Amino acid sequence: MSKKVLALIVLTAFALALGLAGCGSQQTAEQAKVLKVGMDAAFAPFEFQDDKSKDYTGFDVDLINAIGKQMGYEVKIQNTGFDGLIPALEAGNIDVIISAMTITEERAKKVNFSKPYYKSGLSIVVKSDNNTIKGFKDLEGKQIAVQIGSTGAVEAKKIKDAKIREFNTVPEAFLELKAGGVDAVVNDLPVNDYYIAKSGAKDAKLVGDLLTAEDYGIATTKKNAELAQKIDKALEELKTNGEYAKIFEKWFGKKPQ
Ligand code: GLN
Repeated sequence: MSKKVLALIVLTAFALALGLAGCGSQQTAEQAKVLKVGMDAAFAPFEFQDDKSKDYTGFDVDLINAIGKQMGYEVKIQNTGFDGLIPALEAGNIDVIISAMTITEERAKKVNFSKPYYKSGLSIVVKSDNNTIKGFKDLEGKQIAVQIGSTGAVEAKKIKDAKIREFNTVPEAFLELKAGGVDAVVNDLPVNDYYIAKSGAKDAKLVGDLLTAEDYGIATTKKNAELAQKIDKALEELKTNGEYAKIFEKWFGKKPQ
């Protein structure tokens, strides 16, 4: 064999090895499929941190873990302020948002939403000794605490002469109500219910009817329509195999609506 041919063989083998190595590393990247999930973990019972362990827990946490498992992805949670979630998704820092996020037209311009996974709506919380606020009409001219960037903030701003105080998280809004700094909190009904049942019953109560009918959706970037489809498919499978109902009953004590 001439030296030239030998050199050629060696070179070819080298190139092949490199090529194969390349494939190999691509495969491992795919095998360790990670879903970076953003949520504002201060919205019990949907997403919050366990008092003792500080682990993320809640309906959304169980649901996204089940969805990830169904899709063959490992779920990694990133706690992010609610108003920073869509920007984080747009910047590619997270792949998915599950954060009791209402599907709205405004948001749907920026993100893809899954099929609705929870029916919600806005309600009012006042101090337990307040007998003047009985519904949304009575909020005119009042001081109202809401969470920044929430549908509660959007709706409260429509109330005539009301002074809106915006907080980073809902627990801060509840604290302000307790301290007497505001007359009411406008926020999602299931979260208000949970707050009153768990800790606020002596300080606060729910008044009036639901103001809105809202659906929560799981958001993904517009750049990855395939991911949105995979999530919808997994959600559907969990509804069919009873896993969704199990998670729902665990957190809400009743069968899904
Ligand atoms: N559902 C409300 C919204 O989407 C509030 C969600 C939240 O604060 N986590 O605006």
